Amino acid sequence: MEHITLKYGYTDLEPVIDAMTMEIHHGRHHATYVKNYNDLVAGTEFESKPIEEVLSNLSALPADKKQAIINNGGGAYNHNVYFEQFTPGGSELEAGELASKIEATFGSVEEMLEQLKTAGATRFGSGWSWLVVKDDELSIIQTLNQDTVLDAGYTPLITIDVWEHAYYLKHQNKRPAYLADIVTILDWAEITKRYESR
Ligand code: MN
Repeated sequence: MEHITLKYGYTDLEPVIDAMTMEIHHGRHHATYVKNYNDLVAGTEFESKPIEEVLSNLSALPADKKQAIINNGGGAYNHNVYFEQFTPGGSELEAGELASKIEATFGSVEEMLEQLKTAGATRFGSGWSWLVVKDDELSIIQTLNQDTVLDAGYTPLITIDVWEHAYYLKHQNKRPAYLADIVTILDWAEITKRYESR
């Protein structure tokens, strides 16, 4: 897999995400996960498969590489979902099927985001909080470390990285402050596209 090129620059998400965090997070952490994953699957049957397919079928992975592929492949994939869901200045969710589904499930977009932030704030240690869809039902879930939601059959709509490397330079120990900030730069057009292609 290739290391994604972002549709915005490292300074463009300021002041929510500072440029130094972006440079370290995308340019180093994410790049390393992608390189390590590519090294792990090189010369195997998994090399030519989409990463979503590999991570959806963990029981097919060789025992001696399984956890390393979960860690590094998950790190590569989760950060794609994360970095591709932002747009400078944020956006609004337009009325439509996704907005109606969120309102029917959570009451409002604001309440859904509150639950997403709570899931991120209460994820002890390193991991992710998610808005996902499965069998046409939305839910908020957490994952640990670089585990993905794919093996449980979910399609990710939003994910929030709560590893300290995602926020510590700017928000230090104030993870809830990072969570409050990060949901203001969501690209709802991208999230709607994910929902429509579930
Ligand atoms: Mn990260």
